[in-house]
Amino acid sequence: MNDENCIFCRIANGVIPSATVYEDEWFRVILDMGPASKGHALILPKEHFRDVCELGEIYASKVLQLGGKIGAAMKKTLGCTGFNLVQNNGVSAGQTVFHFHMHVIPRYEHGKTMVAWEPGHADPEELKAVAEQIKAGL
Ligand code: AMP
Ligand code: ZN
Repeated sequence: MNDENCIFCRIANGVIPSATVYEDEWFRVILDMGPASKGHALILPKEHFRDVCELGEIYASKVLQLGGKIGAAMKKTLGCTGFNLVQNNGVSAGQTVFHFHMHVIPRYEHGKTMVAWEPGHADPEELKAVAEQIKAGL
């Protein structure tokens, strides 16, 4: 289902033009208008899902492979040596457009650091307790 008020629904379905890298029955892959690096792309499902928790089964089964395919093409053509697949869910996680999308961010030698965090500390007992907490929600 599409939401006519959703900008990514409109882009994914070709209502609004975009710099399209790839398109099939399920997805359109476009270039991000505020690229973190040259070639930064967004994989957009053609159906509206708010985030990964809502993502339909077919889309979920295909999106990771598509991310790999786009990343491999970037390595062949753009000269990047790696890429990050990033997917934000919720405001606190940095999601700003509430139509599921996966970022494919090319990474270049000597490029700036992105998608990094400082490792924290946790003892095994604490890890066990947190694991139990999460399990309770499954
Ligand atoms: P997120 O923060 O994960 O929700 O990412 C949203 C991304 O969409 C950002 O990187 C924006 O630069 C990008 N973006 C928002 N609107 C557009 C648009 N109309 N065309 C291309 N990229 C967009
Ligand atoms: Zn949408």
